[in-house]
Order: sequence, then C-alpha cells, then structure tokens
Amino acid sequence: MASNKNRKPHAIMISLHLQGHIIPFVNLAIKLASKGFSVTFAHLEFVHHQISKSQFNSTDIDIFAQARSSGLDINYTTISDGFAVEFDRSTDLYVEAFLCRFPEKVDELVGKIMQSHSSAGSNFFLVSDTFSVWPAKIAEKYGLVDVSFWTEPALVFSLYYHLQLLRENGHVPVNGRRENVDYLPGIQSINTKDFMSYLQDSELTLLHKLIFQAFDTVKSADFILCNTVQELETEAISALKEKQPFYAIGPLFLGDLKKNPVARSLLPESNCTEWLNSRPAGSVLYVSFGSLAKTDKNVILEIAGGILLSQVNFIWVLRPGMVDSEGGGILPEGFEDRTRDRGLIVPWCTQNQVLMNPATGGFLTHCGWNSIVESIWACVPMICYPLFTDQITNRKLVVDDWKVGINLCDGASLTREEVAENIGVLMSGKRADELRQETKKVRETLQNALTEDGSSEKNFNCFVEDVKDEIERRCEKRI
Ligand code: UDP
Repeated sequence: MASNKNRKPHAIMISLHLQGHIIPFVNLAIKLASKGFSVTFAHLEFVHHQISKSQFNSTDIDIFAQARSSGLDINYTTISDGFAVEFDRSTDLYVEAFLCRFPEKVDELVGKIMQSHSSAGSNFFLVSDTFSVWPAKIAEKYGLVDVSFWTEPALVFSLYYHLQLLRENGHVPVNGRRENVDYLPGIQSINTKDFMSYLQDSELTLLHKLIFQAFDTVKSADFILCNTVQELETEAISALKEKQPFYAIGPLFLGDLKKNPVARSLLPESNCTEWLNSRPAGSVLYVSFGSLAKTDKNVILEIAGGILLSQVNFIWVLRPGMVDSEGGGILPEGFEDRTRDRGLIVPWCTQNQVLMNPATGGFLTHCGWNSIVESIWACVPMICYPLFTDQITNRKLVVDDWKVGINLCDGASLTREEVAENIGVLMSGKRADELRQETKKVRETLQNALTEDGSSEKNFNCFVEDVKDEIERRCEKRI
C-alpha cells in the first residue's frame, strides 16, 4: 500500500450557485489539478442544468471532459439542493433550505466521494466557498483539512471577519451614518458608507444570517485562499495572516483555462467580436451590472439618456430580470433605433472577450470583483455604479485607492447629464489618459504576481506544500 506521503491529495470542491463565484471556483479547480492534485468538483444540479443547457443545448454533458482529456485529474459530479431545476432561488425559502438542509446533502456527497475513491489511495481535503456554512462540521466529521476560498477582495473579507468588533464599536449596522473607522487590523481608515450593504442594513434577513454564520465558520478553516493580489492589499492581508493561514493567489482567471476550457456561464453568451472589430480603438463603452444586481427602471432611463447625450459607441448587457418592471420595455422609447449605428444591446456576452478587444475603452460597471479584475487585466478604466453587497466596498478600492476609475454620480440620485459628463471624462481627454496610465500600473502588478517568482504564484505553491504537510500530519496522528 502507498505510504500516506505518496498518496495524491484529492480536493473535494462544492461550488456555490452564483455566477461570480462559479467562475473563480472553476478556475481554482483547474489550478489545483494543474499542480498535480486530484479534484472532484460538484455543481448544484440546477447550475449544471443551466450551464450545460446554455452552452451545449444538452444536459448530458461532463463540463470538465475537455480539461480531463488534456490530462488533468478532475472528476465531475452534481449535488441536489432539494429543489427542482426551475425553482426560483431568490426566495427566503431557498436561503433557509440552504442554511438548514443543504449541509446534510453535502455530508452525503462527501461520504460517497470518499468511499468511491477509497481504493485509489487518495488523501482528501475539502475546498468550499467562504459563503458556505457547512465546512467546519463536514471537515470535522470526516477528519478533512478545511480550505476556504474567498472570491472577493481581502478588504471585504476583513470587514466581515471583524463584524463583532464593528458591532461592539457601534459601527454595524451603519444605519446611514458616515463615520471613519480606523481600528480594524490592517485597514488604515474606511468610512462606514463604504461598508458592504449587508453591514449597512439594520433589518436582518436570512441572507444576513447566512453570511454572518459563514464568517463564524471560516474562523475554524485550516487555510484561506483569496482571489486578490498581495501587493494590492498588503496590510489587510498581513493582518489576516496573523489570525489564520491566508494566501493571496489571484487573479485566478488566466493561462490554464485557455488550454483547458471549461463552460462556466449560466446564460448563453452573445459574441460581440465582429461588431467590436468594426469600431475604432478605445471608442466603445462597455456597460454591465453583472449576474445578480437589480436596479429600477429610472436608473436604466438615466443611463440610456446619458449614453444618448454622450454619443459614445457602446455595448450594453441588459440581463433578463435585472429590472423589476411591470411589463413593457425598460429602455426609453426609440432608444434602440436612435443608437442602432453605434450601440449593441445583448442579454449576456463573453465579457472577457469584450474587455480585451482593442475597441473597448471604458467599462461602466456595478463593481463586481471579477469584473474589476478583468477590466484591470484588459487595461480598461471604469465608471463605478455599485448597487449592493461587496460592490460598494470594491468601489472604494477602484476609485479612492487605486485610482483606476471614477464614480458615475456623486449624490444619491442619477441624472443623465452627469452620466454623459462622466462617460466623456472616461473615454477621452487628460483625465482619461491619467486613468489609463494608473490602470496600466495596476495591471502590471497583477501580471507580476502571476509570474513564476510573483507573489500569487509563490503563495499558491506555498499553499500546496502547506496543505500536503497538514494532510500528512493528520494521517500520522491517526496511525
Ligand atoms: N460576465 C459575463 N458576461 C456578461 C456579464 C458578466 O461573462 O455579460 C461575467 C464576468 O466576466 C464576471 C462574472 O460574470 O466574471 C460576474 O462576476 P462579478 O464578480 O463581476 O459580478 P456578480 O455577477 O457576482 O455581481
């Protein structure tokens, strides 16, 4: 029998169902497998259904087949959340089930995976999204090393992590106050207006409960991986490292995925390349609010008005369901006709391709973390219009700290004149040049982090060794 040391580490990865989490989680699976680990990756059944339907028009698909045929040791499976594929998962009922009943399903699956690979000589460990509430219990039951993956910046992690301290100081819930907080480890100063929406709210929902519980759970994780870059959040990361093993390994979106494509998109993607190729370099504004954010019709009307006034070329992702409208279109009458020669409106696109196209010169974004990192990687400065959750805190990093973007509006309400003015500032002129220069600098930081000697690569290698040592240590203890 192989000694424990020679056994292959085998990551059991159970993905969260949100688009902004699925993408980096899949990328992490590829990265672990390319470092020689075995991986069993589980999507929720409805996620599997949605991705395979939208990408292959069939549900009988192994999403990782291509990655596996290129030599990576990745098994793919699904897990039920107890609801039918078409169930509306934006309800409280779903959050409650996710909190209370889903952990049993995970327990069952983990047991099954471990049993079915027991003869293969695997050393299992658990990799979960930090927003999961079940890892500590499951890891304890099966004696597994517990790895938590945080898909957002370290600043956001740190704010949730220090929730108790913020409460003791009366800064959470924020309740509309604007005060600077300067006592959080590794965070020089942050205004309460920049806290994530879940820390702003005074009325707590089940979702708040889930998030706060997840951050209790993460305190017992053995390792925490974060999709950020050490040089961008040095102090926040150093302070977190004093609490728990914390590794900045981002951005997790390149290289290996090109060789091993894995379908990750929940919606069919419109290809905008041909349209973009016919536009002058840097002339197109890309507008998207990501996969989750909702807004009201007025916001859409003002942005549309601003686009009309600015005369800019644009691609606008208007995701189905992003506006709760009572029937009818959400765009102003005649907008599509008036912008036909300079605009493209799509329900979803291959965002990376759009950002990387030389025609794209600016991104009006909701400040989802993946979108920010992708935009910086493409050297495209941003106009920020955060709507909720971490987007509000991410805006601070983009505009105030790294200076790679501007705010869409300064007050609470949005006017088309302000939108047009800021589009003008972003797309051309002195300020636009400055923003582009700063974006280029931050992009270099990302690029350097990914080189062989770069911080993210070194941190990842260090994690690989540390996780192997920890697995070994536990095996020896058991003997
Ligand atoms: N995305 C995409 N096509 C679109 C809009 C978004 O592929 O039309 C991708 C985008 O590249 C990013 C993810 O969806 O990787 C959204 O994640 P993000 O963290 O930016 O925002 P969220 O959707 O979580 O709010």
